[in-house]
Amino acid sequence: MRVLITGGTGFVGKRLCQRLAQAGHELLVVSRSPDKAREMLPQGTQTASSVLDFVEQAPEAIVNLAGESIAGKRWSEEQKQRLIDSRVNITQDIVNLCARLAQQQKVPKVLVSGSAMGYYGAQGDKKVTEETPPNDEFAHRLCKRWEDTARQAAQHGVRVVLLRTGLVLEKDGGTLAQMLPPFKLGLGGRFGDGKQFMPWIHREDHVRSIEFLLERDDLEGPFNASAPEPVTNDTFTTKVAEHLHRPSFMWVPGPALKIALGEMSRLLLTGADMRPAKLEAAGFRFDYPTLDSALSAILGD
Ligand code: NDP
Repeated sequence: MRVLITGGTGFVGKRLCQRLAQAGHELLVVSRSPDKAREMLPQGTQTASSVLDFVEQAPEAIVNLAGESIAGKRWSEEQKQRLIDSRVNITQDIVNLCARLAQQQKVPKVLVSGSAMGYYGAQGDKKVTEETPPNDEFAHRLCKRWEDTARQAAQHGVRVVLLRTGLVLEKDGGTLAQMLPPFKLGLGGRFGDGKQFMPWIHREDHVRSIEFLLERDDLEGPFNASAPEPVTNDTFTTKVAEHLHRPSFMWVPGPALKIALGEMSRLLLTGADMRPAKLEAAGFRFDYPTLDSALSAILGD
């Protein structure tokens, strides 16, 4: 299959590209640095700086993962706009590509488009499935605009899948890579009261879930992409410390995080007990269903 990927140079996308190339798929990757992207991605990958550069190649499937890092900088009004624009503009280009290809009877079969657990906003300890009404806050509005833009591709006959992803775990990127240095020094610990839920997923399971959703013609709409056993921040941080054989008696008080990070502190201090109800109902099997199994594989203890 010819698969167009945005965000293919990222923490998730790079691994997705490796697996898709191994499975024999042809890769078309959109990147702000196409030459650099070609060097780091599997041999034979075509790269371009715009989605619309791939009209002629007529991709059969699209995976949309590009976006400015949500935890990279304090959420000033300018940064919030950058978080929105970096996702919505490229997604709109994908919709426009689908419209052009529909006119030529070459419309892609499927668009798997990114979203996040932030879609639900803060949900306390309530169990959250794809049916749960969201809490209106910035993370929700960001994900909703991203999802609503992607959904427009359905008007051109594309099957649209939305990935509401939890924290993706591996040691070479994402949240875990940032946590490991202080935890290895024995300086890790919970944030605030530690009761907030942290849905998570091993990167290998995340990439496998994307492949599963690309292949299953009967599946569409939002899917929670997180392991079946989410944990609280307290459990998460305790387990990371245990797997590193380090203590975790430190903690960062909520008010200090609010002062240091402003509104972005909600990423660390609030959460949702998100469950992968639709993935499980569709028969997806997690290789790493528990945090212990994921951390053992990642940290090799
Ligand atoms: P990365 O942070 O690794 O970024 C993915 C790619 O997005 C980058 O490689 C880059 O590609 C592109 N990008 C970055 N900034 C911008 C920008 N300002 N404008 C346009 N493109 C930009 O993402 P991940 O791989 O970690 O995640 C993939 C998607 O899943 C993201 O959209 C993320 O929000 C979402 N997600 C990730 C989670 C995680 O734990 N990792 C959790 C929940 C959701 P290039 O430089 O080649 O243009």
